[in-house]
Amino acid sequence: MKTPNRSRPEPGKTGKRVIFIDRDGVINKDPGGWTEYNYVTRWKDFHFIRGSKAAVRKLNRAGYYCIVISNQAGVSKGHYSENRLRAINSRMLKEIKKSGGKIRSAYYCIHQDSDNCGCRKPKTGLVRLAERNLGIAARGAYFIGDSRVDVEAGKKAGMRTVLVLTGKTSVKDLNKWKIKPDLVFKDLSEAVDFILSPSP
Ligand SMILES: [Mg+2]
Repeated sequence: MKTPNRSRPEPGKTGKRVIFIDRDGVINKDPGGWTEYNYVTRWKDFHFIRGSKAAVRKLNRAGYYCIVISNQAGVSKGHYSENRLRAINSRMLKEIKKSGGKIRSAYYCIHQDSDNCGCRKPKTGLVRLAERNLGIAARGAYFIGDSRVDVEAGKKAGMRTVLVLTGKTSVKDLNKWKIKPDLVFKDLSEAVDFILSPSP
């Protein structure tokens, strides 16, 4: 593992610090293995991971925009509609808001591999879209995710990658990865506490 660089990310054009966060397995319990289609197809299957809402709030209070970047191929596969995804997203934003936090924007790729889109992670289409829409710079910012595609997308976009162990990946899996995350934490809460801790 690389020695963590604890300097603060550079603000983008807007002067705003940003942080990119994957959804399933980071903010909410990964749906793999216990839901009907291994996707969150209804709000009933969206369970916030302990501390994730508070972590978003902490980031906001420290002046960060939080941006969600999530693959939702279940839409392309026909397991749920775009409208349903939109409704689940709205409810997530509402619940986070209730706890005092804010997701600045949430970007979803609804394609599967065979659609050959430019936005499905590990591709960086959604990150680029967020940069354009919000006038921010991803380079040097953190990307927090629970799977290999998050780390690969983050690296491609010049970001610092943080893996959390609340989702698809265990420490053991990491040995098999060619591209490794810069940092590994138990969950979003721990990752955020590190990111916001004063530099030594
Ligand atoms: Mg995930």
